[in-house]
Amino acid sequence: MAVILESVITCPNCGYQKTETMPEDMCQFMYQCENCRVVFRPDPGDCCVYCSYGSVQCPSKQLEAQNQAASDEDSHDNSALP
Ligand SMILES: [Zn+2]
Repeated sequence: MAVILESVITCPNCGYQKTETMPEDMCQFMYQCENCRVVFRPDPGDCCVYCSYGSVQCPSKQLEAQNQAASDEDSHDNSALP
C-alpha cells in the first residue's frame, strides 16, 4: 500500500498554499504559515494540521483508511471507532 507523503497545506488565515512533506511517524500539531506567520492547529477531532488543512491526510490516517477499506468487505460496523 502506498502512502502519500506530500501534502499541499492551505493557510486558513491568508489562503497561502505550500507543498510540505509529512513526517511518516508522527503527527504535526502546529504549523506556521510562512506568508502571514500565523500559527494554526488542527480542527477538533483531527490529529494533525495536514488532516485539517492539507490536500492529503497524514500517513497514519491514510493507513487507517486503507485498513478500513480492506475490512469493509467483512463488516460495516464502525462502532469501535472513537
Ligand atoms: Zn497564512
